Amino acid sequence: PKLPYTMNDFLLRDHIKELKFFLQKKLKDQPHLSKDINNRFQDIVSMDKRAQDTNGFSEWRQKESDALHNMIKTRLHTLQHPKDCSTAKVVQCKLKDGCGFGCGVHHLLYCLIMAYALQRTLIIDDGKFRYSKDGLKEFLRPVTPCTVGDLPMSVGEIYMNTLNSDRAQSDIIANKQAVALPLIDGFGGELSKYLPYSVPRDLGERLMNIHGHPIVWWIGHILSYIMTPNEQFQKYLDDLKSQIQFKHPIVGVHVRRGDKIAQEAEFHALSEYMEKVDEYFKQLKHDGADINKMYVYIATDDPGVIKEAETKYPQYTYVLNSTNSRTTGHGGSQYTSIGFRGILTDILLLSQTDFLVCTFSSQVCRCAYEIMQTLHINAHDRFRSLDDSYYFGGSKGPIEAKVLYDHIPVDDKEVAMTANDIVNIAGNHWDGFSMVMSKGKRGLVPSYKIQKITKLVPFPTYTI
Ligand code: GDP
Repeated sequence: PKLPYTMNDFLLRDHIKELKFFLQKKLKDQPHLSKDINNRFQDIVSMDKRAQDTNGFSEWRQKESDALHNMIKTRLHTLQHPKDCSTAKVVQCKLKDGCGFGCGVHHLLYCLIMAYALQRTLIIDDGKFRYSKDGLKEFLRPVTPCTVGDLPMSVGEIYMNTLNSDRAQSDIIANKQAVALPLIDGFGGELSKYLPYSVPRDLGERLMNIHGHPIVWWIGHILSYIMTPNEQFQKYLDDLKSQIQFKHPIVGVHVRRGDKIAQEAEFHALSEYMEKVDEYFKQLKHDGADINKMYVYIATDDPGVIKEAETKYPQYTYVLNSTNSRTTGHGGSQYTSIGFRGILTDILLLSQTDFLVCTFSSQVCRCAYEIMQTLHINAHDRFRSLDDSYYFGGSKGPIEAKVLYDHIPVDDKEVAMTANDIVNIAGNHWDGFSMVMSKGKRGLVPSYKIQKITKLVPFPTYTI
């Protein structure tokens, strides 16, 4: 279709947010000014929301979003349901063992992207799944009815045709019915052009009109296909949601502590998370929303967090994935929602909240954010991360950005940029500055001077 919308209103919104981060940081020791600035921004955001509803494009965007959503679902369904499993061309992928659920499922996501790019059916080998002896099917709908048993070759033979970078990939692809994929870190060669942060050109061109960060839309839809609950688990989720009163407006808070702290991420106090929750609800009130209760869904691997939230922030109604594990009494609540069902429930319910507050260093929250993209036209800005900006582990190369304006560094923490150059984004400091690699140097630049690039890559095309 002819694209009616070319002005990038997502960029404008990001710039407004970056200006707010910048001023909040500068005025952090002046509470009166800071409050005044926050009120002014609330007003701008409200006006912008109202303008979006009246600019005539919302309806078009809704239709385009539905069309793209259905298109990707149909393509994946067709790919994963070949007419005859015994003759179908397949990609075999082993569920990554020895890491957390988010890490394992992100590996499968890369496999499904490669299956889509190679137009082969993905078969998952989840024989050794640490979260369930029955494999993914205990709670998830199988991604395909085909199994390795349907194929005319042994599992050993398939693994001999692993698409490592050091073997001639095109030869294997041309001649073998079944191929295997290595871990993403060991995947190179020509085919790696399909890995994140690449977006299929035919989808990406259209997505740029409806979504603020098309790569997350693409990744989210692929992940959601893998993480679709089976019938029984869907029923469990529906029942649980009504039992624990999962209602809107609701903010999802994910507090990742445990083994992550010190090894892979820094500790963040609960107050930092709750400050963002407070900001979200204040904005809603300013928008004129009629809020009866302020719901907060908390997922965490630290039981102490729930008790702290209930004690220190009693203004919120807490919604917890806790029907079978939370016991009140003995002066407090215990929360131990471990295991496959627990982590699946947490990721899926976090994805269904209206806004996420978490640390993007955790794959758990990135999974939730990714799936969230399938539930809205554009959910790219429905989050506040206390550490990293969004990334996909194992991607080939960094997220790139185009330089909008020249930058001359003002101190040795900053780096120079020239308009129209391409820089690599290393992170957002959420204070108006981003860390980039520019001209071979790593340093800070004002975030408004760069714009993320959507890397469009021609994938093999689908007629559906
Ligand atoms: P990461 O280590 O946070 O990047 O994510 P992974 O998913 O790879 O590993 C973390 C593991 O810790 C998860 O798979 C869960 O088993 C557990 N975990 C962390 N946060 C939560 C949570 O909020 N709820 C539940 N149920 N488990 C969690």
